[in-house]
Amino acid sequence: MKDLLCDQFQNTVSEMTLCHRSILEILSKLQESGVRVQRSVVHSVTSCGCQKITANKKSLPENATFLDLKNLLDSHLSGNLCNNCRDNIESEIGRSLFYMAALCNLMELNLYDIFIKEHKQLEILREYNLT
Ligand SMILES: [Zn+2]
Repeated sequence: MKDLLCDQFQNTVSEMTLCHRSILEILSKLQESGVRVQRSVVHSVTSCGCQKITANKKSLPENATFLDLKNLLDSHLSGNLCNNCRDNIESEIGRSLFYMAALCNLMELNLYDIFIKEHKQLEILREYNLT
């Protein structure tokens, strides 16, 4: 059984990209959208200031287990997204999903099948504590 929302999204993207079906255009737009996601995150730190990045080298014990690493390593990110930055980042991620779905359409791939396949891979890795 396919996920209706995911398939509907992919179908809507297909209808919206009728005039822009070149693989070259979709690939460049997909890359550009990824950069815009990163830029919107950076903007929340450097322009808005609702988030802060603090990074430094971590000394890790030689005998650290994967569970230890989960506790020792962090995201280097602190603060809370304000509503404006949250909206911006969500919009950019949405745009990136649009071009990801457009690429799937051109390649005759089903986005939901890819989610399921990736999820199964993650579950296998989780069993071995490798994520
Ligand atoms: Zn903000």
